[in-house]
Amino acid sequence: MSKQSITDLNLTRLQEEFASLSLPRYTARQVTEWIYKKRSARFEDMTNISKKNLSLLAEHFDTGRQPYSMATTSADGTKKYLFSTRHGDIETVMIPDDDRRTLCVSCQVGCRMSCRFCMTGRCGFAGNLSAGEIINQVLSVDEAKNITNIVFMGMGEPFDNLGEVLRAIEILTSEWGLAYSPKRITVSTSGLRKGIETFLDNTQCHLAISLHNPFADERAKMMPVEHSDHIEEVVTLLHRYDFAHQRRLSFEYIVFEGINDSVRHAEGIVRLLRGLFCRVNLIRFHEVADLDLRSPDKNKMEHFRDYLNRHGIISTIRRSRGEDIEAACGQLKNQLGVRVQL
Ligand code: SF4
Repeated sequence: MSKQSITDLNLTRLQEEFASLSLPRYTARQVTEWIYKKRSARFEDMTNISKKNLSLLAEHFDTGRQPYSMATTSADGTKKYLFSTRHGDIETVMIPDDDRRTLCVSCQVGCRMSCRFCMTGRCGFAGNLSAGEIINQVLSVDEAKNITNIVFMGMGEPFDNLGEVLRAIEILTSEWGLAYSPKRITVSTSGLRKGIETFLDNTQCHLAISLHNPFADERAKMMPVEHSDHIEEVVTLLHRYDFAHQRRLSFEYIVFEGINDSVRHAEGIVRLLRGLFCRVNLIRFHEVADLDLRSPDKNKMEHFRDYLNRHGIISTIRRSRGEDIEAACGQLKNQLGVRVQL
């Protein structure tokens, strides 16, 4: 019989599951205290629970903790971790920056969105991570006790695995869980409209949307999601929400030489995002051997950024991290013979 992971369940579900085993209701609180506050990975450590109840717990559950199988550190301190999951291996990236430690987590093994420039998309899709497999990334990296920010920008499209991602966010932000402020969490999407709406209605976390081109026909060539979820309709939806006070809205824009780096594109962004309280993060494309896409020149990117800023769109060029260990944006993939169960 396969065991249920404690970290796949929220407190209410844990209380229900424990009640069905005739365990006292307060045991759920005790267990979450050990797992999320004291960071215990073993039932044996839970000294305030009776031996009889611990053996009942161990018979039906596991603590959801799985150590990483490999870690690689970049010259700039960025660290990439490899974790095994039920559907294959995933990568998690820790990015240090002064006193911040940002963890970039994966939510799927591979991805169904097939963005042309992304190594994850090119690897295909093998399966969704459970909430516990997402939480395990936060609990099991070496820096687990010092992670200040969490971004869902690793492998996978979060809103293609919405239920598990929302449950993981509940565990991350609840007082009985890891108690992160939602302001420390950003979820990045290619632009799935229904998922965006559900996410905005049910969490207070920040939202990042991959834009990459303001023109629908051109965007569709890079991001097939545009065929079903048009960016203009996504922007119309976003106008219904307040991004000036409660949370932040950003658009990620990977800049490709000769494809989306012209003044026409900058004008298109200004037109598309007019009236929306947001910022645009420009990211230099990292060249990949078998992809016919080029990195832009630094001056051109700066002109692009300056044009947006002059026309009322706050824009910055994001510093690239971890390129030497292939941990940068769009570089995460199944490599080194990594197992994928399709
Ligand atoms: S960029 Fe994101 S949504 Fe697109 S294929 Fe890669 S992981 Fe999926």
